[in-house]
Amino acid sequence: MKPMKKDENYILPDHAAERRRSRNAAETAFFEMGEQNRMAGLHKKYYIRTYGCQANVRDGETMAGMLEMMGFEKTEDMQEADVLLFNTCAVRQAAEERVLGEIGSLKPMILAHPEKIIGLCGCMAQEETIVRRVLQKYPQVKLIFGTHNIHRLPDLLSQVMHTGNRMVEVLSEEGKIVENLPAKRTQQYKAFVNIMYGCNKFCTYCIVPYTRGKERSRTRQDILREIRDLQENGCREAVLLGQNVNAYGKDLNETDGFTALLRDCARTGIDRIRFYTSHPRDYSSATIDVMREYPNIMPSLHLPVQSGSDAILKRMNRGYTAESYMRLYDEMKEKIPGITFTTDLIVGFPDESDEDFEDTLKLVDYCRFDLAYSFIYSPREGTPAASMPDSIPMEVKKERLQILNSRLAQYANENNQRFKGQVLEVLCEGSSKKNDDVYSGYSRENKLVNFRADRNPEGELVNVEITDIHSFSLDGKAL
Ligand code: SF4
Repeated sequence: MKPMKKDENYILPDHAAERRRSRNAAETAFFEMGEQNRMAGLHKKYYIRTYGCQANVRDGETMAGMLEMMGFEKTEDMQEADVLLFNTCAVRQAAEERVLGEIGSLKPMILAHPEKIIGLCGCMAQEETIVRRVLQKYPQVKLIFGTHNIHRLPDLLSQVMHTGNRMVEVLSEEGKIVENLPAKRTQQYKAFVNIMYGCNKFCTYCIVPYTRGKERSRTRQDILREIRDLQENGCREAVLLGQNVNAYGKDLNETDGFTALLRDCARTGIDRIRFYTSHPRDYSSATIDVMREYPNIMPSLHLPVQSGSDAILKRMNRGYTAESYMRLYDEMKEKIPGITFTTDLIVGFPDESDEDFEDTLKLVDYCRFDLAYSFIYSPREGTPAASMPDSIPMEVKKERLQILNSRLAQYANENNQRFKGQVLEVLCEGSSKKNDDVYSGYSRENKLVNFRADRNPEGELVNVEITDIHSFSLDGKAL
């Protein structure tokens, strides 16, 4: 175990230690709920606010599972919660400020009810400067734990409840992979399945390799067991999760372990499989062949490109060129007819020139993405890009984002036109958020479909005829 910084009795994150990578493969440990914690939450309620990516959503499900094992009951109302957890994201600064603002606004509630416990967890809790700021300025936060020791939540929370003392335990080294953790799933028919944790890529703009630690893979047996258990409980879609799923198995000395894993997952016979997030650098042709071979692997791919400029890609340390990305795109489109493509794009990376931005637009014109998540570059303290010189004014960056977004919306809409009059298979997730008479779900191509039906087909694969097209969703009627 690497040395950790001690401050009073707190275990604080250490940015330098988070950067280190040991060669040891991660061991597996098994979670057990201590007897002393089992009744600790009886007649009490918990509230979890999750921000950010699917990995965080999955972590939130684990936390909810542990809290319910402790006897807590879920509430969606912050005011009636006894324990409030903020499961945070560190990818963009503006989102971090929003979280801190929200926690700040709870001060009056805590003054009126000092017995309530506010906890900070997730990626922000792995940031040294954030934790120090919270310790100084947010006395209402009584519990801080990181992404590597989620399984410690019952013990840490019980200690805060019994002693009233603040508990801070944020590890800078990832430790063991913990299996047998309970989960309160947010959906019954679609489930996130972690296949690996962490990231070794160190893209220069990204904080994730620091907050989530090194790449470490769960064993194939544990992943397949989880998928079979989900299937037995009525789940129809497994979404395989990792920061860079194509690197699955590298730490287990497997060559192209992701392709083998994907094939095994498909062979479980579960109705649908998706996976997030892929990295163009590690993507193999063999993976594309497996996607083509098994119809229960969905024909949609999220493949972040970030920029169309080779100079920017190099400064981002992405490890591929615009040309190699487009060749991968071509191979997918050729081998998997009808596959839909989504991506992530950053504009305004330090010193991004007009020509660099033009190259991004050219790549967008070539790939005509079905959907893209586009953002202005957000400097993250402690990452190499944060200290790169940047002479591009924010006004220019905002203007570029607008140009990019209108081009992306145009392609999203054009791509959707081909679905008009087609029948798509939709996994119904229940009634739509806006209208109880309308149901919604995702097609095999990962298109959001809102449709009318004579009865509630939640959890079923429904054939839906598409009648109307929008840029980011489709409307239809069940057949
Ligand atoms: S691949 Fe790059 S962008 Fe993705 S999590 Fe790893 S470092 Fe961040």
